[in-house]
Amino acid sequence: MRKNIVAGNWKMNKNVIDAQQLMAQLLDYKKANATNCEVWIAPPSLYLMMARDIFENNEVGVFSQDMSEYESGAYTGEISADMLQSIEADGSIIGHSERRQYHGETDSHCNRKVKLALDKGLTPIYCNGETLEQRKAGQHLEVVKNQTETALFTLTAEEIKKVVIAYEPVWAIGTGETASPEQAQEIHAHIRSLIAAKYGQEVADEISILYGGSVKPDNAKEIFSQPDIDGGLIGGAALKLEDFSKIIEGF
Ligand code: PEP
Repeated sequence: MRKNIVAGNWKMNKNVIDAQQLMAQLLDYKKANATNCEVWIAPPSLYLMMARDIFENNEVGVFSQDMSEYESGAYTGEISADMLQSIEADGSIIGHSERRQYHGETDSHCNRKVKLALDKGLTPIYCNGETLEQRKAGQHLEVVKNQTETALFTLTAEEIKKVVIAYEPVWAIGTGETASPEQAQEIHAHIRSLIAAKYGQEVADEISILYGGSVKPDNAKEIFSQPDIDGGLIGGAALKLEDFSKIIEGF
């Protein structure tokens, strides 16, 4: 059966001292509490090795926030799948809306990144979701369908089973606006049905689909209770243990 996951995306926050402190707090929390979900974090890439050292027994999964679509070479500023593999990172977020908005990332880029991550034994957390204009125009189902198909549907059934999908409506990220549990469930069920139509229900049922967009301690439980929502990708509320732990306890 598919996993429940709460993953924190730290984005471009925290100096090294603060990052180390939060990781240490999270480790203590994980040792003291049996959680009903896997807990993953995606700190800035500069802190990934430190995270791997701190979570040496895989108490918390260690993910990058992005990775290159290229194997190696003259790509200044990029980090590669091989580098992530070499520090024993667990995987990478791919296609976050901020990468799409500020760095021109498209689903074709995501497709290459997801495939490369899988080839290197890394778990991709593939993000998609519609903008406010697209939702207002009633295009959300179509947009998410096109994104999912372009980014993922060249994979084999065995490959796609290893992908985690994060539905993150752009209008709900960092805005305090949350999709209602029903709105999120509609899209999650839609994504799962697209996968079922292409790969079969058994494959679709194995894939964890996370919701992201202003998940907070007070709305996590209701969101996670939806049948096709298998956890959350958390931004702002992942930056303090007090909030993040309450979200984890939403399971
Ligand atoms: C995110 O960045 O993936 C996210 C969901 O952010 P926030 O929780 O702050 O909306």
